[in-house]
Amino acid sequence: MGRNAADHASGPPVWRVTGLRQELDEPDEAVLARARRRIRAPRDASARFARRSVDARGRGADLHLVCQVDVAFDPGRPSRALARDLARGAVREAPPAEGLGTSIEGGGHVVVVGAGPGGLFAALAAALSGARVTLLERGDPIETRGRKVVAFHRGAEPDPETNLLFGDGGAGTYSDGKLYTRTSDNLEPAILQELVAAGAPEEIAFDARAHIGTDRLHRMLPRLRARLQERGVRFEYGTRVVGLDTVEGSAGRSVRAVRTSEGELELDALVLAIGHSARDTWEELAARGVQLESKPFQLGVRIEHPQELVTRGRYGEGPGAASLGPASYNLQSKGAPPAHSFCMCPGGRIVASVNEGGRLCTNGMSNSKHSSRWANAALVTTYTPEDFAAHGFHGPLAGVALQRSLEERFFIAGGSAYAAPAQRAGDFLHGRLSRGDLPSSYGFGTVPGRVDELLPSRVRDAVGAALVRFERAIPGFSGREGLLVGIETRSSGPVRMVRERSTRLAAGWTNLLPAGEGAGYAGGIMSAAIDGARSGQVGATLARP
Ligand SMILES: Cc1cc2nc3c(=O)[nH]c(=O)nc-3n(C[C@H](O)[C@H](O)[C@H](O)COP(=O)(O)OP(=O)(O)OC[C@H]3O[C@@H](n4cnc5c(N)ncnc54)[C@H](O)[C@@H]3O)c2cc1C
Repeated sequence: MGRNAADHASGPPVWRVTGLRQELDEPDEAVLARARRRIRAPRDASARFARRSVDARGRGADLHLVCQVDVAFDPGRPSRALARDLARGAVREAPPAEGLGTSIEGGGHVVVVGAGPGGLFAALAAALSGARVTLLERGDPIETRGRKVVAFHRGAEPDPETNLLFGDGGAGTYSDGKLYTRTSDNLEPAILQELVAAGAPEEIAFDARAHIGTDRLHRMLPRLRARLQERGVRFEYGTRVVGLDTVEGSAGRSVRAVRTSEGELELDALVLAIGHSARDTWEELAARGVQLESKPFQLGVRIEHPQELVTRGRYGEGPGAASLGPASYNLQSKGAPPAHSFCMCPGGRIVASVNEGGRLCTNGMSNSKHSSRWANAALVTTYTPEDFAAHGFHGPLAGVALQRSLEERFFIAGGSAYAAPAQRAGDFLHGRLSRGDLPSSYGFGTVPGRVDELLPSRVRDAVGAALVRFERAIPGFSGREGLLVGIETRSSGPVRMVRERSTRLAAGWTNLLPAGEGAGYAGGIMSAAIDGARSGQVGATLARP
């Protein structure tokens, strides 16, 4: 019987007991005790939650929690009951957890570009694997980033280096800080542990709705930076990579140094974790022979409701609902064309995710307490390179060209001052302009617009079909109180930096490691952090003299 590394090498095996029901008023210890009893572990066996989610299928009638609990226990020979539970999947061995570092030997110089989750965890993993690490970030540290974001909201043009997408913490620094990931990776516990050590709530380790919130993320970033610095990572903010100095070799092309806005920096391995909006950097990399390809991305709108409508629709009005706080949702429409909700921000607000003047893009954020009276989410469909071609855009950066043209269209339709065109869901479905005030959490305000006409027709049809379906899941979703605000173009990136699957190296390069969302191999804070960490580990190995 294998061992997992969770408690680890020398500890007892860890069993994951699944499908445990927890009533809303039931103490945690009662569930942990039930998990121990299920596998006949002694009362003092170490037990902890591995996952906990709300089961709201009964919409209020039978609200409860569903839990998985890890119990560390050596049964000697498994009992018949445990063997039966293992066979039917009610209990399984917990997956092994991995550490971020691969060795503690001294090594060469790894340069990481980007201080988003991908870059931060690439730098940490490389440092813990023995490399000397420099992290370059074009934007400001968190201590001054906020001022430039506030200036933008007070009427200044967006700063091209420090904005809602660029700067300390990356694109998710103004977000809900949701940590759901669709991949289950053995590095996840180590990453969550670092986040908890930097100030994230401990529940992020198991809560299926785990989120940090913008306010708390901002307090955590200086602590996370300090933890990286303690491990030897050197941070250079306000430093944009503008080019690569390369050498040709028999094994492929290598980067000798990066050229930056502040001078040149020699290196042994380079991790590029530049995020999904560094359009200028992609252009430069393409010119330097880095292979890029166009990839599908999510395109649509934000939809906003009063939070109360969403919570009532999901949890009903019974006594249990209040204890669960603001509800979220995750809805799919399999219509033709399909669409889905994404990046739902309960108790949040809509923000302008903008890094280029004269272009508009919306996204969502919330604070740790989910305290605003609004709920918003992306309502998007997958738009493909074939769609880009139908708009007349071709080549590896076709998706960027399409994003830009749509962002300009919405910017102009909103009055060219970052206000957003908006339309009530019911009016969208009937193809008419909304009348009267269109209240929204969006800071720049909304103006009535024909969002249905501004969107490409395939996106309009996908959003329309989804609205009809989602009304069945949450009554009122697609009526007067549902407001569509556009446009949402940056839920995911439109470019992939082609890399070898086994080595993680950019195709044809010997020491260039594209990572995170901008490389096209991650989507979301957690998956970018995991992808970055793995590339950081490889970078340290490549840099070893
Ligand atoms: C408003 C908003 C809300 C979001 N909410 C969530 C959420 O709740 N949960 C979730 O999982 N995901 C969320 N996301 C997505 C998430 O933020 C991204 O998936 C994640 O940040 C990607 O990480 P990354 O490290 O790959 O890139 P990024 O976080 O984009 O970081 C890239 C960094 O590279 C820097 N950079 C770029 N070019 C250069 C250069 N040439 N030189 C130096 N530095 C450079 C940028 O300044 C940036 O800081 C949200 C995104 C936005 C915009």
